[in-house]
Amino acid sequence: MTNVLTNTLKNRQYVFAARPEDEATAGCFGQVETVLPALKPGQILCRNLWLSVDPYLRLKMHDRESYTPPLQIGEAIPGNSVAQVVTSADPAFEAGDMVAISGGWQEYAVVRAAHAKRVDPALSRPQSWLGALGMTGFTAYGGLLSIGQPKAGETVVVSAAAGAVGSLVGQIARQLGCRVVGIAGGPEKCARVVADFGFDACVDYRAEGFAGALAAACPKGVDVYFENVGGKVAAAVMPLLNMFARIPVCGLISQYDGQSGTDPKALEEFMRWVLVRRLTLRGFIVYDLYQNHPEFTDTMAGWLRSGAIREEFNLHSGFDQVVPAFLGMLKGAGFGKTLVQIAEPV
Ligand code: NDP
Repeated sequence: MTNVLTNTLKNRQYVFAARPEDEATAGCFGQVETVLPALKPGQILCRNLWLSVDPYLRLKMHDRESYTPPLQIGEAIPGNSVAQVVTSADPAFEAGDMVAISGGWQEYAVVRAAHAKRVDPALSRPQSWLGALGMTGFTAYGGLLSIGQPKAGETVVVSAAAGAVGSLVGQIARQLGCRVVGIAGGPEKCARVVADFGFDACVDYRAEGFAGALAAACPKGVDVYFENVGGKVAAAVMPLLNMFARIPVCGLISQYDGQSGTDPKALEEFMRWVLVRRLTLRGFIVYDLYQNHPEFTDTMAGWLRSGAIREEFNLHSGFDQVVPAFLGMLKGAGFGKTLVQIAEPV
C-alpha cells in the first residue's frame, strides 16, 4: 500500500543547475518533478512544511575542497526541514507525527526513521527545530561554550549578529553574564539587535568609522570573538583582542558569494596577533561538538520558555520563494533565522 502512495505523489524538487562564477543567482537552480522511491522497511515518507536555507549551501556551490562535498550539476539541493509523516514503514513513527529531518528543498522526502528527530510540541513551536533547538541553535551554543569558553564579566563580540546563529550566540553569552557586542549591517539592524535581543551594543560594519566605533563599544577589549564573517570585520576585531582571547571560527560568509578582495599582508598581520596576544583559534563544524553537550535541548528549551532567549524568524511563504529567500539571506535581507513555509500542517 505504501508503494502505491509514493508512486502516485508528485514531488517538486530543486536541483543545482549551474555553478556560479561570481555571485549566486536564481539561474543556478532548477525545478524538476520526481517520482518518490517506494518505502523500504525502516523508512518514512514525509511532507516538508518548513525548509531551512543556510549559508553552507553557498559553499557547496563552489567546486573546491570544503568540509562538505561540492554539489554536482543536476544534484538535488539538500537542507534541513520540519515535516509531517505521511506514511511510515517504521514502528517509531505514524502518520501525522511532526519530525525534523534532512528533507532537502522538495515537497516530499523519503528518509530513514532512525535519522528523523521527533518534534516535541511541548518544548517549543515546530519551527524552533530549524532555529534555536536545531542545528542553528547548537552551532551557537556548542561553539560558544566549547571553544569560546566565556566567563561572567568578559566581553564577547559576535559578527552577523542579527542573523540566525549570531543572534543566539549573543543572547547565550548574556545569560552567562558577559558584556555582548554585536556587529551587523545597517543602523536599523543594529538597533534591533540591541532592542530585541538585549545585546549591550551593536556596531554597523558598513558605516564610516566602523573600527573606531567597535573599539569604543569594547572599552575592556575582547575576550571571545565568535567569527561568522571574516574579511574586514575580522580585521577590525583583531587589534581589540585581549591576551589569551578565544576565537570560535564558525563561518566566513564574506568569502562565500564571489571572492572578497584579499590583502596579501592580511595573513601576516593576523598571525602576528595570534602570537603576540596568545590567541586560541579553533574552527568547528556543528557535528564536531554534539557529544560535548547532552544538556543542550533542555537548556535551550528552558531559555525559550522563560523568554530569556528570543527567536526571530525571517519567514517566507511558498515553494517558489525558496531561492529568493536563500539569495536574500546571503545578502543580509532578513532579521533572524530565514525559513520558507511550503505547506500547512494537517
Ligand atoms: P545568517 O542568518 O546570519 O545570515 C547570513 C548573514 O551574514 C546575513 O544576514 C548578513 O548579515 C551577513 N553577511 C553576508 N555577507 C556579509 C559580508 N560580506 N560581511 C559581513 N556580513 C555578511 O546565517 P547563519 O546564522 O545561518 O550563519 C552565520 C554563519 O555561521 C555563516 O558564516 C555560516 O556559514 C556559519 N555556520 C556555521 C556552522 C558550522 O557548523 N560551523 C553551522 C551554521 C552556520 P548583515 O545584514 O549583518 O550583513
